[in-house]
Amino acid sequence: VFSLAACGSDSGSDTGSGGGGGGGGGGESAGKVGVILPDTESSVRWENFDRPYLEAAFEEAGVEYDIQNAEGDAQRQATIAEQMITEGATVLAIVNLDSASGAQIQEQAANEGVQTIDYDRLTLGGSAEYYVSFDNTEVGRLQGAGLQQCLEANGVTQGNIAFLNGSPDDNNATLFSSGAHEVLDPLTQYTQVAEQAVPEWDNQEAATIFEQMYTQNNGNIQGVLAANDGLANSVIQILGRNNAAGANNVTGQDASVEGLQNILNGDQCMTVYKSVRDEANALAELAVALLNGEEGETTGTVEDPEGGREVPSVLLTPVSIFRDNVKDVVDDEFVTAEELCTGD
Ligand code: BGC
Repeated sequence: VFSLAACGSDSGSDTGSGGGGGGGGGGESAGKVGVILPDTESSVRWENFDRPYLEAAFEEAGVEYDIQNAEGDAQRQATIAEQMITEGATVLAIVNLDSASGAQIQEQAANEGVQTIDYDRLTLGGSAEYYVSFDNTEVGRLQGAGLQQCLEANGVTQGNIAFLNGSPDDNNATLFSSGAHEVLDPLTQYTQVAEQAVPEWDNQEAATIFEQMYTQNNGNIQGVLAANDGLANSVIQILGRNNAAGANNVTGQDASVEGLQNILNGDQCMTVYKSVRDEANALAELAVALLNGEEGETTGTVEDPEGGREVPSVLLTPVSIFRDNVKDVVDDEFVTAEELCTGD
């Protein structure tokens, strides 16, 4: 078991992360892979985890790649996609900012003979050849079950719960919420008093939204289903301001350093760990297959209800992290004990 008390007093070095532009990598295969991440604000994962893991995976595969970030701007994502194609990308992976803009990028790419992959978020009505992600409904189920487990462990046999969902434009957020509802709806001892989606997963807006929920319910909220660690942190700040810190019935996702620290501090109940390393490797494998004109290996298909098609997919398995298994995330080398100690 990892505990913050085990942290020594001398601080460690910063391992560094994020930043950096796209890289080279000489390739045996023709063409180039372009990846466009969504933003830097909705989660630390994109720049701190996805980018370095994707770089490592493409380097390892020896293919040319270019990784850029749309900075939350769908128009910018489309412009970057065009540039990438002009500069020789023949496979394009995007984390869409919303399905409509994502579908347009994919349609345009297809017109130019470029194959596309949906990374992490499914583009509804899109035309990607593949989808790489986690079982996102399962992520929601883990959050719902986690919230129940924590409420029970904290002796809350009856109470009010609130949902702070991810962006209404993110299909994943819909899946997270539906998975959580699957678990929590049948539990009559917990009354769902509020539920709201947070546009663009914006953490500041999340704080405002949660503060309203809290005030409207006269502080009578015992548990919060927060869709990721960033939203959870906003909730924790509001609870802290209302002298309700340490309530420990807040969920999260992404196993961010901040989220794990909130868990170790007793402010957050659980997070969902998704091995971004595995996800990045899966994307790289599929991209390389497409570059080589081969078919990629998939684990199944995912239905796109808007496009009326089954999208060949690689879906990975998410894992619940509570205080007593934070160490698993360290053992998997996703974060270091040092980062948990220093917060860097
Ligand atoms: C991802 C989460 C992330 C969120 C905000 C979702 O689509 O699956 O891991 O926290 O977007 O970026």
